[in-house]
Amino acid sequence: KPRVLSGIQPTADSFHLGNYLGAVRQWVALQETHDAFYFIADLHAITVEHDPKLLRKRTRVSVAQLLALGLDPDRATLFVQSQIPEHAELGWVMQCLAGFGEASRMTQFKDKSAKQSVDRVTVGLFAYPVLQAADILLYRPQYVPVGEDQRQHLELTRDLAHRFNTRYGKAFQPPEAYILKGTAKIYDLQEPSAKMSKSASSPGGIIELLDDPKVSAKKIRSAVTDTGREVVFDQENKPGVSNLLSIYSALTGREIDELQTAYEGKGYGDLKKDLGEIVADFVTPVRDQVKSYMDDPAELDKVLARGAERAREVAAGTLARVYDKLGFLAGR
Ligand code: ATP
Ligand code: MG
Repeated sequence: KPRVLSGIQPTADSFHLGNYLGAVRQWVALQETHDAFYFIADLHAITVEHDPKLLRKRTRVSVAQLLALGLDPDRATLFVQSQIPEHAELGWVMQCLAGFGEASRMTQFKDKSAKQSVDRVTVGLFAYPVLQAADILLYRPQYVPVGEDQRQHLELTRDLAHRFNTRYGKAFQPPEAYILKGTAKIYDLQEPSAKMSKSASSPGGIIELLDDPKVSAKKIRSAVTDTGREVVFDQENKPGVSNLLSIYSALTGREIDELQTAYEGKGYGDLKKDLGEIVADFVTPVRDQVKSYMDDPAELDKVLARGAERAREVAAGTLARVYDKLGFLAGR
């Protein structure tokens, strides 16, 4: 079976619809056909100021959400990044391979650091895409299912893999991004030029899976829409309506064309009302299941312990090979 790997940061109390449609939904589908590794990226969550108590809770809630959304720990390897020391270890190696200028060109770093004063921006935040390259390469996956915002980081990962192979001998296979067209970028409901984001979206702009479903429906009804009244997909001129249509299509499996026909002669209000209900119906069972998983944190930790064991086997193998090629003495 070809291997896939991906991760998500425990940087909020809930995942949002973009995380699900852009990434986690594909993770669930791929576990059937691929040797799948998925992890909670807690090392990345400390690149910005964080509260340890919250982080612990959010890590477990993240796992609970993955299970509620359909990940099966018997088919996919589910683990927490910090429990596999090889991530930090290969991360250092990658830092010694990545160029300062190269890392400086990462647009997510530029965006995330722009909001803070220079002395608050950590070296860790700067190095985050480089650690991410290590996260990926440790598992030697063929595909990495992510949203569009991760494309540049995947390119960096491929470049670093290639550079290592050329300099020290082949240890990695450059992985490919697996990005689905229709849902690669779900936009903020209040600011449809920006992606929906855990850390940057305003409460009104983000559909959190664990929100009260009534609140989610209301947020859809108050989404920013565009001038005109026709329900048509037009990313350039009608980003707000187009975003709603993408979400609608993804959650119902109905083609955008079909939706445009169905809403002919109706207005934005009808579209939003219907989509509000669709979203509420989608999140309701997820929310209930997350609650029941959270009632038994010991069981979650057991799932993670099993995942860590499997992940570590693969990660340790890769790191040993890398250390050898670098000229480190054996016996780590
Ligand atoms: P943060 O703001 O803390 O970076 P995030 O919302 O970007 O949080 P991540 O944990 O960084 O979420 O990303 C998890 C996965 O979700 C990644 O594969 C990412 O590409 C995908 N993703 C994030 N936001 C969106 C979005 N708006 N549309 C589609 N996919 C998304
Ligand atoms: Mg992100």
